[in-house]
Order: sequence, then C-alpha cells, then structure tokens
Amino acid sequence: MSLSELSRDELVALHAEQSAAYDALVAQGLALDLTRGKPSSAQLDLSNALLSLPGEDDRTDAAGVDVRNYGGLQGLPELREIFAPLLNVPVAQLVAGDNASLAVMHDSIVFSLLKGTVGSPRPWAQEETVKFLCPVPGYDRHFALCEQFGIEMVPVPLGEHGPDLDAVRALVADDPAVKGIWVVPTYANPTGAVYSEDVTRALLAMPTAAPDFRIFWDNAYAVHHLTDVETPALDVLGLAAEAGNPDRVFLFASTSKITFAGAGVSFFASSAANVAWYLGHLGKRTIGPDKVNHLRHARFLRDADGVRALMRAHRAIIAPKFALVDQILSDRLGGHGAATWTDPDGGYFISLDVADGTATRVVALAKDAGIAMTGAGAAFPYGRDPRDRNIRIAPTMPSPDAVAQAIEGLAVCVLLAALEQQLG
Ligand code: PLP
Repeated sequence: MSLSELSRDELVALHAEQSAAYDALVAQGLALDLTRGKPSSAQLDLSNALLSLPGEDDRTDAAGVDVRNYGGLQGLPELREIFAPLLNVPVAQLVAGDNASLAVMHDSIVFSLLKGTVGSPRPWAQEETVKFLCPVPGYDRHFALCEQFGIEMVPVPLGEHGPDLDAVRALVADDPAVKGIWVVPTYANPTGAVYSEDVTRALLAMPTAAPDFRIFWDNAYAVHHLTDVETPALDVLGLAAEAGNPDRVFLFASTSKITFAGAGVSFFASSAANVAWYLGHLGKRTIGPDKVNHLRHARFLRDADGVRALMRAHRAIIAPKFALVDQILSDRLGGHGAATWTDPDGGYFISLDVADGTATRVVALAKDAGIAMTGAGAAFPYGRDPRDRNIRIAPTMPSPDAVAQAIEGLAVCVLLAALEQQLG
C-alpha cells in the first residue's frame, strides 16, 4: 500500500521493520559500487581481438598511408566510413580523433571561448557572461566542463522525448549570452530519454538571440540499444541545414562503450564550415591522431554491421542487469509509491527519483551499508538537485548478483528514508 495511505501506527510498524532490515543489511558488510557507467570486464573481453591488431605486417590504410607516421588530421577514412552511417552523418563531415569524446567537447568549448566559432561576433570569453542550457537530470561531466570554464548553467526540465521546449525557446530567444545547450539525444544519461524528430527539428529551427548558438549533440549512446528496437540516429546535420541553421550542431561520439573505455576512438561531426573551423584549431594542438588505433578498430569492426553485431553482444550481457534493477525496484518499492524510475531502451543508466528531500539521506544510508551510489544531485548543474530526489543507477559494471544485492539494499534505504521523513 502507498505510504501516504498508511496510518501513523502502520508507518511506525513499517519503520521498525525497515530499520531492522537496514541493520541486517549493514551487518552483511557489503562492498558494492554502482557509481560510474563503466563496461564490465565481460564486455571489454568482447573486443580483446583489438589487443593483437593491426599486427606487425598491417600498417597502411586503404590509400597506402603508413599509419605509424604523423598526419591524417581528420582520421582514417575507412574508420570514418564505418561510423558515418551509424551516426547518420556524411563521411566528409566526420572527424575521427583520439581516445575520448569528452576531450573533443573540452576542446570545442576552449576553441569557442578563446577564438570564437563560425558566426561569433567575438570570442566567447570576451562576452560578459556565457550561458549553457542544461536539460536535467543530465551528465555530470558536461556540467563539470561548464563549471571549469565559468559557463553559467541554466537547468531546463528533460522529458521522455527532449527538454521542455517552451522553456528552451524562451531562454534562447532574448538572451544572447545563451550560447549552447547540452543534448544527449539517444538514451540520455541518466534518464534514457530519446529526442524525437519533432523536438530535434524545433531545437534546430528556433530563433536564438546568439548568432553562434550551438547544440552540443553528444550521441555517446547512439548504438547502445537494450531492446530489439534499434532506434537509428537522426540526420541532425541534414535537418539543421534544412532548418536554415547548418552550423548549429556540434556532434560528438566515441567507441568508449563499444570497444575499450579510454582506449577507443572519439568522433566530431558538424557542417563543412564547422569541421574546417575545428580542424583549423585541432591542427595547432596535434599533428594527427593515433591512426594505429584507428586501423585496429577498422580491422576489428569491419563495417557498420560489425558494430551492430558487437552492440548486440553487449546487450546480451547488460540487458539482464537492467531487467534485474527494474524487477527488484518494482517488487520492493512499487506498492509503496516511494519512488519512480526509468526503464530505458538503451544506454548505461537508470534514473531513480525517491521521495522529495530524501536522496541525500538515501545515498548516505547506502554508503554506510557498503553500497556506493553516485552522489545525490550529481546529475544537476553545480550538484544541486532542487528537489533532492534524483539518484543515478549504473548497473553495467558489477556482476548480476552484485547488482541484485545492491538494489535490494538500496530499496531498503529508499523506504527507510521515506518513512523517516513521513514520521518527521
Ligand atoms: N558522453 C556521455 C553522455 C557519457 O555518458 C559519457 C560517459 O559516461 C561520455 C560522454 C564519455 O565519453 P568518452 O569516453 O568518449 O570521453
């Protein structure tokens, strides 16, 4: 029965029961970690062939370029050909880089701040204030990048198919300080939201006071499906051009959760003008990317279907863990109305909303019971969740047994914190 329907006596009884369950949980001396969205070693093992590629005798790309040497700033063409259809961008507008898309986002911000981007009246750093819209809950490292560079963050609520468009339109229409918005269009971190074509078209077409407004389109989970419905990436660059704003989108992606996290390949895509802008600055930063890594990825993945097949193997490993979380939360919390959570069709996270005002307490209780959760508020700019209710669950890394144990324990903490609050 929902907590709100219980009498005080019933609440007291349930509180006693959950306190005992919590004491038993603490006594187990668990050491479980659901904090970061990392692949498990079973997932990493799927790409072990990479460790012996390209091989001593395989050192040239299709054009005969020696990958061991400098150059090739835009990245190996055959690797870009594999990922262009998956990201739904033209090969010519896709750049393959080094090991982390976060670094590409960092550079895009730094180049814009110091030099301005295509269409900027002046470098962003010369503006009195620079603001980014941040759909929430969102990815903590996007927010950390803004904080690092003094970019003011303006939260906007994120729904199932994208952010609150009225709020976004109002914020960009009159304020030229609003230079960007963070978007994780497919299986957003942490809610699993998938931006619809309608919302995307609206974001691409909306009038903005800043002439150089950019959508930081981080398609980190473009191919990371958890069901048979393999939602394809939108042709966001084509749609931007169609909307008359061809330069509005910076697209980012990587193979971090396809092959090896931290030892994969990052991608940048945009309009031809923006790609020229990006490569112009990148060419000062580096003489060229790690093409040996590009070649081994091209050899290993072979083509877009090779990536799709690999992602299905990832799914076979992680989808059962997501199902476990959903099942345990339903069993333990479903009837009490003490929490809601997402059931994503892809990506790496589940977003749990507990009773307002209790997320910090839940995470602290879990920590004391040996269950490490991402800090409450982490999915919000400046770490401030105004309702103190959101907790990000990252179930991919631990074993299924560990995921089950952790979520069973977490459910006890959620219920206990909600009861404590009800009882005052
Ligand atoms: N973007 C999103 C939305 C993520 O969730 C993550 C990792 O969790 C990253 C980017 C990091 O990507 P990379 O390893 O390519 O830096």
